[in-house]
Amino acid sequence: MIWRLVDWSSMRIAVISDVHSNVLALDAVLAHVGSVDAIWHLGDIVGYGPDPDAVVDRLAAAGAVGVRGNHDAAAVGGDEIDWFNPDARAAMEWTRRAIAPATIAWLTALPQRREEAEFTMVHGSPLDPTWEYVTTAAAARDNLRAVTTTHGLNGHTHVPLAFSLDGDRAAQVAPSLEPGATLDGPRLLLNPGSVGQPRDGDPRASCLVLDLAARRAQWSRVPYDIDTVQSRMRSAGLPHRLAERLSYGF
Ligand code: ZN
Repeated sequence: MIWRLVDWSSMRIAVISDVHSNVLALDAVLAHVGSVDAIWHLGDIVGYGPDPDAVVDRLAAAGAVGVRGNHDAAAVGGDEIDWFNPDARAAMEWTRRAIAPATIAWLTALPQRREEAEFTMVHGSPLDPTWEYVTTAAAARDNLRAVTTTHGLNGHTHVPLAFSLDGDRAAQVAPSLEPGATLDGPRLLLNPGSVGQPRDGDPRASCLVLDLAARRAQWSRVPYDIDTVQSRMRSAGLPHRLAERLSYGF
């Protein structure tokens, strides 16, 4: 066996989640983060938006690694679709018809959980990678305990969030754009927010950069051409409400 030793100590890593077939938001985020050593994604690559193949092409070309979300599982035929609301279900049925075989193969290969450097990646939560929304310190506590690496990364809520575990106490850490969060304190569960369908009232794409030299996690918000994505969604026949919500970030 050949052991490949990776020196993570000086790396800058872009962490993205919930791109949801929004390639213009993804392109804006990738341009904003600039040159990074790795791109990690936390699932829900597809669903809702008009460009699933283009999003997967970009991420595959960039060598992004990550995990499967509930929408990715549904897109490749999973019964997760049975739990979707009517708009999400209509968009998923469109996605299933639209995606190319290469996209299906890439999504099918995604694991539920992945470890890189000192981080565990999941979509929902460490305890329930497919479905759990971690939105409270109470929910975060058991999940932070279940992480076996130093820190955890999750998505699914479409809201940038962070929780810490200090001894037995879990607390919400404000996901402030400046100065971000230190990676040298207590264990963190870090959520980058959503690239392609933010739900915190800010319509700009959300992402997180891990600067392992500075030992910081830094959130960013990035404007993109929402109007063009909305008209692409309408002409594709995707539910209008899914297009409209992009204007409000909700
Ligand atoms: Zn999602």
